[in-house]
Amino acid sequence: MDLFEYQGKQYFAQFGIPVSPGGEADTVDEAVAQAEAIGYPVVVKAQVRVGGRGKAGGIKLAENADEVRLHAGNILGMDIKGHTVRRVWIELSSDIAKEYYASFTLDRPNKLYLGMLSAEGGVEIEEVAATNPDAITMLSIDPTVGLDLETAKRWVAEANLDEEAREQAAALLVQLYTCYVEGDCDLAEINPLILTTDGVVRALDAKVTLDENASFRHPEWEAWAGTDTEDPREAMAKEKGLNYIGLEGSVGIIANGAGLAMSTLDVVNQVGGSAANFLDIGGGANADVMTAALEVINADPSVKSIFVNIFGGITRVDEVAKGVIEALKRVDIKSPIVLRLDGTNAVEGRALLKDHLSDRLVAEPTMLDAARRAVAFAAAIEGGKG
Ligand code: GDP
Ligand code: MG
Repeated sequence: MDLFEYQGKQYFAQFGIPVSPGGEADTVDEAVAQAEAIGYPVVVKAQVRVGGRGKAGGIKLAENADEVRLHAGNILGMDIKGHTVRRVWIELSSDIAKEYYASFTLDRPNKLYLGMLSAEGGVEIEEVAATNPDAITMLSIDPTVGLDLETAKRWVAEANLDEEAREQAAALLVQLYTCYVEGDCDLAEINPLILTTDGVVRALDAKVTLDENASFRHPEWEAWAGTDTEDPREAMAKEKGLNYIGLEGSVGIIANGAGLAMSTLDVVNQVGGSAANFLDIGGGANADVMTAALEVINADPSVKSIFVNIFGGITRVDEVAKGVIEALKRVDIKSPIVLRLDGTNAVEGRALLKDHLSDRLVAEPTMLDAARRAVAFAAAIEGGKG
């Protein structure tokens, strides 16, 4: 789960990492109220889960209420790389002397953590990484050893941070490391990490990716969960506990197993169609799960046909067939459904379904045949013939 900047800063603050005072706003009036409470000058910052907001015009300095009104009005609703800005973060402006870069992430091949630190942070960090990689000082950290203050002090010196920033930066890096490890982040990045003109080091930006596998030990993440997705289909699927990813096409997909679900997308593509989603219902292809899956797909206005692709292993096909029949009683499906059921007890499963088949619920023996049928249905409906 990726956090917005303001959420990342709230998380940082829990680990003692210094950030500027600020508040979030969803409207221009709220933005002005936040600024009035904070005091001027403030910075109005677009909250989207994508970098390069500054270059896109999503970050503006405001000296007074009129300027907050102007900038918040322009930024709210703005599109930044395909993300619509729905919230701004207003924070007390900083007087920047230097912009550094700091991050922790996973070094998978070496089974270590990787710290990156640079005295040349800011909006051009990608450029620095490409043209002057030596300006980024890497630190491999053994998770069983961790990062102590002495090591952090050597690191900030090696990275050539300004003398006056080193002590504070070293302490901050230890806090950021603690946030990364104890806070169960996949990524904790600060760009820029600033030195102010009056000699204070703090995080001016926050990019945090949380490791959702650890959510069971972080009840406090719950508050951010709802804000994670903008796709209403994904929000609905998440609520129902489904493993769903929204896509752009017109064939709704239900499959058991991530591998089969991905193959299903490929086969639909291969026969000239496009999938509306990825959906793996796992081993639990019972009536409840099938109902939930059909409800989510049925709510997607782009879906023109539905392809249910089940290979019975431990999950027996006759059980799946019962699940499908029961689910069809509960959900009023808009689109024709193509079933491909194979594997353990396939014969029994197909026999159960036989009486339920119609011109809107058809069965095909193979995955390829079923994909062709589902794509043909979608094409016919999209062409206005269905
Ligand atoms: P990003 O463009 O999405 O990475 O957003 P950042 O939060 O990193 O801001 C981009 C740039 O805007 C920073 O590198 C700063 O140069 C500038 N900026 C952000 N906040 C302030 C501030 O409080 N004061 C000043 N002077 N500049 C700021
Ligand atoms: Mg930044």
